[in-house]
Amino acid sequence: MSHELRVKAISQVTDRTPLPSKIPSRLEAIWATDVFTLSKMQACLPKDVFKSVQKTLKTGGKLDISMAGMVASAMKDWAISKGALYYAHVFYPLTNATAEKHDGFISVQSDGSVISEFAGKVLVQGEPDGSSFPNGGLRATNAARGYTAWDVTSPAYVMETDNGMTLCIPTVFVSWTGEALDKKTPLLRSNSAMNKAATRVLKLLGYTDVATVNSSCGAEQEYFLVDSHFAHNRPDLLLTGRTLFGKSAAKGQQFDDHYFGAIPERVQVFMQDVEERLYRLGIPAKTRHNEVAPGQFEIAPFFEAANVASDHQQLLMTILKITAKKHGFVCLLHEKPFAGINGSGKHVNWSVGNPTQGNLLDPGDTPHKNLQFLLFCGAVIRGVHTYGSLLRAVVATASNDHRLGANEAPPAIISVYLGTQLEEVFEQIAKGEANHSAHGGMMDLGVDTLPIFVKDPGDRNRTSPFAFTGNRFEFRAVGSGQSVSGPLVAMNTILADSLTWVADKLEAELAKGTEIGVAVSAVLKEVMEKHSAVVFGGDGYSEEWHKIAEERGLPNLRTTADALPVLKDKSIEELFDRIGVLTPVELESRFDVYAEQYVQTIEVEAKLVVSMAKTIIYPAALRYLSDLAGTIANLSGIGITIEKETAEKVASLMQSMTDNVSKLSTAMGKHDFDSSEEHMQYCAKTIRPLMDKVREYADALEGEIADDLWPLPTYQEMLFVK
Ligand code: ADP
Ligand code: MG
Repeated sequence: MSHELRVKAISQVTDRTPLPSKIPSRLEAIWATDVFTLSKMQACLPKDVFKSVQKTLKTGGKLDISMAGMVASAMKDWAISKGALYYAHVFYPLTNATAEKHDGFISVQSDGSVISEFAGKVLVQGEPDGSSFPNGGLRATNAARGYTAWDVTSPAYVMETDNGMTLCIPTVFVSWTGEALDKKTPLLRSNSAMNKAATRVLKLLGYTDVATVNSSCGAEQEYFLVDSHFAHNRPDLLLTGRTLFGKSAAKGQQFDDHYFGAIPERVQVFMQDVEERLYRLGIPAKTRHNEVAPGQFEIAPFFEAANVASDHQQLLMTILKITAKKHGFVCLLHEKPFAGINGSGKHVNWSVGNPTQGNLLDPGDTPHKNLQFLLFCGAVIRGVHTYGSLLRAVVATASNDHRLGANEAPPAIISVYLGTQLEEVFEQIAKGEANHSAHGGMMDLGVDTLPIFVKDPGDRNRTSPFAFTGNRFEFRAVGSGQSVSGPLVAMNTILADSLTWVADKLEAELAKGTEIGVAVSAVLKEVMEKHSAVVFGGDGYSEEWHKIAEERGLPNLRTTADALPVLKDKSIEELFDRIGVLTPVELESRFDVYAEQYVQTIEVEAKLVVSMAKTIIYPAALRYLSDLAGTIANLSGIGITIEKETAEKVASLMQSMTDNVSKLSTAMGKHDFDSSEEHMQYCAKTIRPLMDKVREYADALEGEIADDLWPLPTYQEMLFVK
């Protein structure tokens, strides 16, 4: 790393021309062309085979294995017509990544000739050598057998990469003994558990025709783009996804001039490219805009079934990264790439519904009369209050810790925002009976030519981690780089649990001859009596809220080290076991894997802090100091004296940085811990603060050293030079 490289990077960046912008293809012409959709299946499968697949999708049952051969063969022919020679079972290990193993369609015959082949059993089941994926002790390395199995509910697609086209088949990934090693299996289980409980409640409400209830998810993805010439000169960005050093630029985001400003041309061309790829893959990208921080953007696809949305979200992250590369950017999905600048989150919008009763979280115009809505919303409130710490645990990562509780993201305290209208309805319920709902009304702007607005009955509250937003809940604490599966699993599971509780209560009341309306009111009243403490409509960023939350008994688990051990709580173990989402062994494996990821992330960062401080920052400071010292000495030789304070200050900052580097190195030498909990706490309370100390002095040095000696691309350059 040298100053020359930095200067070269600046001129490379300013010399760049955007890739030529294309006229976007017509949406209808490219939509889902790379997906083996139901209509493509219908076109090439015998009727009975297609019907069997369709039935599986509708009822969530199992695919008749005798049909798989024909589906596989049709899928292969379609993929080959798209130029694919390989297929891959794609799965989602306990990292936030997507994994795949590629195999050719090639099959060598006994006479030495080859044909392309894709048998049904190969479509349905695979055996990747998955031993290198984290499994939290679920498999010993010598017993590494793991299976992937086709998830019929998520369509297969062809993916174009540098290596050509590959047929990708979304799968679950389980061990030889059947334990879930991935994020998809529990998601599917949680969805079907939620369906069962929801169906029970709907039937008790008197519906006879109840279609399968599914959870839906629309995730808003925030990300940063940094020019690759800069990123490649920042070892911290390359290895950890965030800047471990860097003095704030004089200008940050204080003018809010980036948000909703014009999207820079290069980025616009990049976004168009991303969207075209997403559309081909059947991913309904809908919203795009600049975000609050300079260099930060958002993309939000339209919501889909949670399982498909989760697979699509993984694909979207991959597409963002590979497309960014093509356009000379590095796409940062880290939750906090730049200190002092807003971080990135992934708002997970979630609702549940079915074709017969619709969106079960839709309040309609008169929520106080809408028993179905009130029960489902009440069940969510109960779930979030009872298992708030679980919701905190599923967003706990080393990187998200930088964001939660800072001034841009919800605090680590999990509360529910309902909006004024619903808050009032639920208050009425708590007092006895709800008999009216406030209305938004009309808003006249006083200008004849402007339309009269219909005002929403409730405002937005951006400070709440779990907010009701009209017909869904928006979980805002999720990290930008995270898979959405964990949060979706948690939400489906706590809802399944609450709805089961609701159904049990209602059944007991109905058995006593109570009228359904009265029974529902009683259940809702109990929910509000016990759980209204989780409802909060004020400013979640304020200090005052921390105090109130404590009085209300809401947990405030500030770091991952505090939050992850929740997964070991007896109540959480029982919850997952009872609802049938994760066995105690599977849950424990998750704790082990995530705890290890937390520790490893911090260890890698700490190592890099030491090495960058020693080999990049210290030498630059030393050069500057020796320049200064030489000049001061030379000048004094000819009788001119200039101030020495700068030299003294640089020397003292260097000393302080070095002292803290030594402390950090020594601290990193400790390896004997009694438990992962203790190790995590050590990382949170000892290692991280020392890293921050080193950074404090290094950043101060950046503010002193001559710019033409500074080796690392600066915040100003990375965020503003385009
Ligand atoms: P915001 O105003 O919160 O930034 P956006 O329009 O950017 O909202 O994103 C909202 C997301 O919520 C989109 O992905 C949208 O499709 C999704 N969404 C809308 N309705 C539902 C619903 N009923 N269930 C789940 N997600 C939904
Ligand atoms: Mg949002």
